[in-house]
Amino acid sequence: MKRKWSMPVVIYSLFIIVCVICAGTKFYSNYEYDKQQSVMAMKNEEIEKKELTNMNRLVNNDDCRMYELINKSNKLEKSYIPGDLVYPSVNTVIKGKDNRNLLRRNAAEALEEMFAAAKKDGVILYLHSGFRSYDTQNLIYASAKKQSGESDEYIAKPGESEHQTGLAADLSSKEVNFKLDDSFEKSKAYKWLGNNAYKYGFILRYPKNKESITGYKYESWHYRFIGKDIAKYLHKNNLTMEEFYKKID
Ligand SMILES: [Zn+2]
Repeated sequence: MKRKWSMPVVIYSLFIIVCVICAGTKFYSNYEYDKQQSVMAMKNEEIEKKELTNMNRLVNNDDCRMYELINKSNKLEKSYIPGDLVYPSVNTVIKGKDNRNLLRRNAAEALEEMFAAAKKDGVILYLHSGFRSYDTQNLIYASAKKQSGESDEYIAKPGESEHQTGLAADLSSKEVNFKLDDSFEKSKAYKWLGNNAYKYGFILRYPKNKESITGYKYESWHYRFIGKDIAKYLHKNNLTMEEFYKKID
């Protein structure tokens, strides 16, 4: 005897079939998405591994002391003066051929490139101070201690200042009257540097909320040249030099 299907049973069956198809499609697309995500994660991991190997090589073959970590635990010798100091062709707060306008050659060239790019975006940057010898830092330190009892979180002892490397540059702009203080953080120049400095090999060396790691108070004006590869990596991963050296050790 031929069985006759009633209308509600047909509708119900169709409904079940549609539900099964939908659930299957959703399951498959989720599976594909997860697969893509894990391939991407593997690729990123591979890229990061390659980047770290490359940076390890740079740091371990640092014959010309380009990547040296200088802080309260890693000091420069009293006699150290970089052999390739030059005057970058940029706007400077101190006019003329003053020692404070000197930087090591590749930092100077990168600074020129960065200042020119900022100018194209309508931002006029100024170099406030670059190189500082051990003896100059000694005088500055002694005077800061004597005059205002400045804490060591604000002022570096001689041998502990990055300025002695010739790779550090204090930057400012007319907007804040060329001052080196917290007002710079509100400037257009600071914002531009935050988005672009790493592209030219510079990093903000003493960032906010990293004081316990760097040993220094936040300085919105102090930038360190470390080369494009490492600067890009530090920027992307929000790392200080101290954290980076710990990671590659
Ligand atoms: Zn500085």
